[in-house]
Amino acid sequence: MAGKQYDLIVIGAGPAGYVAALRAAQLGLSTACIDRWRDPAGKPAPGGTCLNVGCIPSKALLESSELYEHAAEKLKHHGVNCRSVDLDLKAMMTRKEQVVSTLTQGVAGLFKASGVDWLQGNGRLLAGHEVEFTPHDGKPQTLAAKHVILAPGSVPVEVGFAPFDGEHVVDSSGALAFDAVPKRLGIIGAGVIGLELGSVWRRLGAKVVLLEAQENFLAMADAQVARDALKVFTQQGLDIRLGARVTETKVHDGTVKVGYQDASGKHSVSFDRLVVAVGRVPATDGLIADEVEMVRDERGAIHVDEFCQTSVPGVYAIGDAVRGPMLAHKGSEEGIMVAERIAGHAATLDYELIPNVVYTLPEIAWVGRTEEQLKAAGTPYRSGVFPFAASGRARAMEATTGMVKILAHAETDRILGMHVIGAHASELIAEGVVAMNFGASSEDIALTTFAHPTLSEAVREAALDVLGRPLHIARRRR
Ligand code: FAD
Ligand code: NAD
Repeated sequence: MAGKQYDLIVIGAGPAGYVAALRAAQLGLSTACIDRWRDPAGKPAPGGTCLNVGCIPSKALLESSELYEHAAEKLKHHGVNCRSVDLDLKAMMTRKEQVVSTLTQGVAGLFKASGVDWLQGNGRLLAGHEVEFTPHDGKPQTLAAKHVILAPGSVPVEVGFAPFDGEHVVDSSGALAFDAVPKRLGIIGAGVIGLELGSVWRRLGAKVVLLEAQENFLAMADAQVARDALKVFTQQGLDIRLGARVTETKVHDGTVKVGYQDASGKHSVSFDRLVVAVGRVPATDGLIADEVEMVRDERGAIHVDEFCQTSVPGVYAIGDAVRGPMLAHKGSEEGIMVAERIAGHAATLDYELIPNVVYTLPEIAWVGRTEEQLKAAGTPYRSGVFPFAASGRARAMEATTGMVKILAHAETDRILGMHVIGAHASELIAEGVVAMNFGASSEDIALTTFAHPTLSEAVREAALDVLGRPLHIARRRR
């Protein structure tokens, strides 16, 4: 017999689940959100991977390590001489932990203020919209709801040839909490985590080698941007080895020996620490009782339709546990859509307009189609590019690396994609997202006044370049 009845129970309080719960409460639904995350001190900490061991702590360390590298090497270009710059890694980690706990406890506060019942412990979907809730150190109880949202998130992939030992071979969470800067750091996978965390430890003094199985670097980005990025990261000192298939790892006497194969043959390289960053898989083990007939794929991802409805009526799944990019904002938007649909609204989500960002320096950001996708689809397009080297503000900031690229339909001029590599690309991309959300053309951007001097002017110049009339770079008239 079920205990308390809710309109909605959400399992998982990551950016997908907690946002869904907050929006549902705003819409007047009686809502509970079950989450089992506890911080290293054992305190319940909502916010999931993103707040605890993902987006937030990685960005905290990216910021700190960037400041360190600036102080140690770049400030002198500005005429600022620092006599000595020392690294206090412990203080850097403490600040990161404070940022995380401020935000996780902020989510707890939001739950309280909006009337969401935050249930701390494990959740499991039973048949008939019932949920088994097992509090930390408590007995299981059964709750019932009219609707259930599953938002369990994902966990790092562990590969047989490099098992995690928590010390020398670690996942991204381990790499966010090293107690010393490794002299030699190996990373399997030059994807988003490899590049962001590789950048953090390189800036702090590690010699970083990334072993990437694919021949193509950053295959999901626009090829022109990926080419530029590879050049810059290599110049910065990241040793990125493409087409490198790791075959074995051995830990001996504090050293990790990694064997890999590439087009030129077999190789061996030794590290003090090895990070395995080869992707994540949905965390759906133990989430769904056997009696529930829920369709999942071979990776455990829950099958959903465009509205995140699962194969069980009234049960939805969102975030990293379902198809689509594993991004915090994608999960949050799905959570909002589902909460609104449950409340009777006709909400939808345009998956084409979800931006991607890699928070390296330069940052890389994009939305919409790449040039390669447009070519493959046979879509007629025009491309406009503006390099930051020609931007007054970028010059003043000493941030001339990179460019803005806009792709627009050759006949309608509607913007189909925007790609940025450069300082603050993560912020600039929002201009492309807003423009595309309103179905804007490159001419619409060209007709807009941008403040001078700003990096945003590069967006307008790229739009002008699509039209064949950029003002601050010399181009032959089209
Ligand atoms: P999660 O955040 O994983 O949350 C799921 C929650 O559900 C967890 O708290 C988990 O404990 C809980 N849970 C699972 N099963 C149960 C259960 N049965 N009972 C109770 N609770 C349960 N994305 C970005 O968009 N931008 C970034 O900058 C970014 N940086 C990242 C950096 C790193 C190092 C990593 C690892 C990831 C990063 N991501 C980033 C990805 C982002 O963290 C995820 O896409 C996002 O957290 C997914 O949200 P979610 O709510 O689906 O799942
Ligand atoms: P990823 O998919 O971005 O990169 C994994 C990389 O590992 C790929 O390039 C892949 O080719 C490579 N790889 C796979 N198997 C390999 C092997 N055996 N040997 C060598 N290379 C191998 O995954 P990730 O970097 O682990 O990140 C996981 C998820 O977290 C991603 O989906 C990402 O979207 C998300 N994330 C996002 C951000 C962000 O938005 N800034 C930051 C970090 C993580």
